Amino acid sequence: MVAKKSKWVAAADLEPAYRKYRQLKQEVDAWRQERGSYWLANLSPAGKSPYLPIVDLPEDAIIELWQRLNLSAKAEITDSALREMWRQLKQGQNAMDPETATRLQMAVSGVAKLASRIVDEKGVPEQKYNPRASESPEKNVLACPVCGEISTLAVLTQPDGKRMMHCTTCSFEWPVQRTGCLFCGSEDSKQLIYLNNEDFPGVEMAVCQVCGKYFKEIDGRKLSAADYVWEDLRTLPLNFATERWIEEQVKKNNQIH
Ligand SMILES: [Zn+2]
Ligand SMILES: [Zn+2]
Repeated sequence: MVAKKSKWVAAADLEPAYRKYRQLKQEVDAWRQERGSYWLANLSPAGKSPYLPIVDLPEDAIIELWQRLNLSAKAEITDSALREMWRQLKQGQNAMDPETATRLQMAVSGVAKLASRIVDEKGVPEQKYNPRASESPEKNVLACPVCGEISTLAVLTQPDGKRMMHCTTCSFEWPVQRTGCLFCGSEDSKQLIYLNNEDFPGVEMAVCQVCGKYFKEIDGRKLSAADYVWEDLRTLPLNFATERWIEEQVKKNNQIH
């Protein structure tokens, strides 16, 4: 694979990262097959959203999967050390090396995905922007109804381009307003600028001129992806380029606040 450069985005060679990710992902899938039904029976979702926030997921399940991923990466860490790291992380401290942190992230996602399956069977109504919601605007439609984490990845689904948010933590998908900005609720589609790059067909970055924030939109009709988490990682250069683009626009004029 040759690294290509364009004016807007510098695409990196992601092959080694992808291999590593695939290997961990296969391990997570194997764990879910073997242990999924056991842990599913141990999950008790709340009566309202967020149904199963990350901090409420069973610690034993997270440690079990995390340890499995550590073993597959030949990283020797005791269970008690992992529990301590997890406890610290929940308190907002993170002293882990990046590789251990990545494996934890995959473990949390693996367990959270079980939770999202329970809610998926019931389904959730379309999340509408509510200007009177007291929480921060981002929490409005961008917060996952299952795990409560913020996602900025939208997918236009087959066959008619219905807009769904895809949670990059637990993989839950929920329907949202079809047009306009997901941060501030502006429905004026003329205020949304779409940026794209030929290296990443089917992926667009939507920048809102009203609030100055951006989200990623994958057109599932043009790009069928089996794994949206990987698609999001693979297209991170678009996020960086968008941030630079916004900075330049702000410098050029004060249209974006
Ligand atoms: Zn989620
Ligand atoms: Zn906006």
